[in-house]
Amino acid sequence: MVSRVIPVDTFDLVIFGGTGDLARRKILPGLFRRFLSGQMTAESRIIGAARSDMDDGGYRQMIREAIAEFGGAEKSDTTGLDAFIDRLHYVPIDATGDGGWKALSDLMRADVVRAFYFSVAPSLFGALAERLHLHGIADAHSRIVVEKPFGRDLASARALNETLAAYFKEGQIYRIDHYLGKETVQNLMAVRFGNVLFEPLWNNHYVDHIQITVAETVGVGGRGSYYDKSGAMRDMVQNHLMQLLCLIAMEPPSRFEADAVRDEKLKVIRALQPIAAHHIVRGQYDAEGDDPSYRADAENPRSFTESFIAMKCEIANWRWAGVPFYLRTGKKMKARSSEIAVVFQDLGHTIFEGDVARHRNILSIRLQPNEGIDLQVTIKEPGPGGMRLVDVPLDLTFADALGEDGEDVPDAYERLIMDVIRGNQTLFMRGDEVEAAWSWTDPLIEGWEARSDVPKLYEPGSSGPEDALMLMHRDGRRWREIKA
Ligand code: NAP
Repeated sequence: MVSRVIPVDTFDLVIFGGTGDLARRKILPGLFRRFLSGQMTAESRIIGAARSDMDDGGYRQMIREAIAEFGGAEKSDTTGLDAFIDRLHYVPIDATGDGGWKALSDLMRADVVRAFYFSVAPSLFGALAERLHLHGIADAHSRIVVEKPFGRDLASARALNETLAAYFKEGQIYRIDHYLGKETVQNLMAVRFGNVLFEPLWNNHYVDHIQITVAETVGVGGRGSYYDKSGAMRDMVQNHLMQLLCLIAMEPPSRFEADAVRDEKLKVIRALQPIAAHHIVRGQYDAEGDDPSYRADAENPRSFTESFIAMKCEIANWRWAGVPFYLRTGKKMKARSSEIAVVFQDLGHTIFEGDVARHRNILSIRLQPNEGIDLQVTIKEPGPGGMRLVDVPLDLTFADALGEDGEDVPDAYERLIMDVIRGNQTLFMRGDEVEAAWSWTDPLIEGWEARSDVPKLYEPGSSGPEDALMLMHRDGRRWREIKA
């Protein structure tokens, strides 16, 4: 298939935290791919900024090594790599001090898009915004990209929104949630809003329930003490899982345009009901063999923080009343797998003699691994033996349908950065959305903290605590298998 690559406007992208893990592992290798595909103009520049003392040459070498380590097949294009590396610059800068800001100001060009990626600890977001403003580096057309976490509760998120709003308009602030940049998440919207088939069924008359699972096999490892202040609810549910839920549940926006989409997502969050304590299961992974338990990883023997959470949510509106949304996410689970499953109701009656199975259509949207979408349909089992029914997946995966291989599917970060340059905020969270999400999660967190709820232990490599299975069994339903 011939891909149509439209270059974005020429830009100066400053990556604060340009020497950090995220910049080296995701942002720079992703930008290199966009450079090779012709989307990044040859005049565009990337400027790394952090406290470490080095010059352009040192930074170029660092990023060369990062691409060698984290890049994909494209890194074998050495001519392309040399040309890309030439586009890199570096300015030593302290977000909280005065050093480096004049040099950055002198380096920036007036007639290109100016974007600033805050790939640093959230405690530095305010200082960066203020100094960009004070030193006249950001103008009314500049954009800032803000990493997660965006606050740890409503009060801190609101304070951060206010700080950023003192220097930037909402239309300049790009709060990133890389789940929204995934090809499949966008394909979900194309499937849902680009076909006549799904919309008539997308409601409580035809959908039995929805499951969203984000399972990881890794533990909290070296980030234990950081994670212990957060937990699965703050780290995963409040942002990623809620964003996925919103895209599934929202009303069709009038246009595929930033505020139209975000208005609809906001309505979903506001319609989420409070959750009773018995509809939430929190877990912590146990030790296994030489592998430490969550509490050992977190270096907190009395930690009540959850590394797993499962919950049953309800959305109080006409479309979804009575349709449960089951969410779960956890670390050290049996496989690394993220999936949204829209489970339709069964037929209620079969005309086929001897057919006792409850066949269901299930639309499954896999985010990782093997991104793709398939629809489970019931067909006749081929061959002799009479009318026997079997459920098979109808594969809507673009990789097969469009002849692309997985390597070509753009990474979420690079797509979102290109959207920043284009000035397209559709796949970024608006300030009021983030605050509404915290307004919903805060009372739940406060509830279990007030009760001093102790998370249930679960075996590493399992599907989470037994109670999480019961959450669905009680309703006569079951979780889909977590598989790689
Ligand atoms: P990291 O590896 O610790 O890097 C932090 C960066 O900030 C370094 O480049 C550091 O360089 C720089 N820095 C620290 N203090 C500074 C200061 N006062 N002034 C200027 N620069 C300063 O962190 P990370 O993993 O890349 O994460 C960056 C952000 O992305 C965080 O908000 C994180 O929550 C978020 N995030 C990361 C990931 C991931 O996969 N890593 C995923 C999702 C979100 P110097 O020490 O040289 O100054």
